[in-house]
Amino acid sequence: MSCKPVDVVVPRGRYDTKVIQMKCGETNHHGMRVTCDPCLNSKESMQEIARQKANMDADNAWNRSAGWGEM
Ligand SMILES: [Zn+2]
Repeated sequence: MSCKPVDVVVPRGRYDTKVIQMKCGETNHHGMRVTCDPCLNSKESMQEIARQKANMDADNAWNRSAGWGEM
């Protein structure tokens, strides 16, 4: 599987935006995972991403219950 850079629009200053390139799997300024087109079109990749997210949610739930807050 070959990942491609993803164009992400980010705010620059108050009224301006710019486009940066991020790697697939990185987290953007919204805290959302950046996913490239080949991955979006790949069933296996999306399953893997969903699995990782489920793990993260489980960790956060555990941290909350332990009083450690979210990661
Ligand atoms: Zn990718």
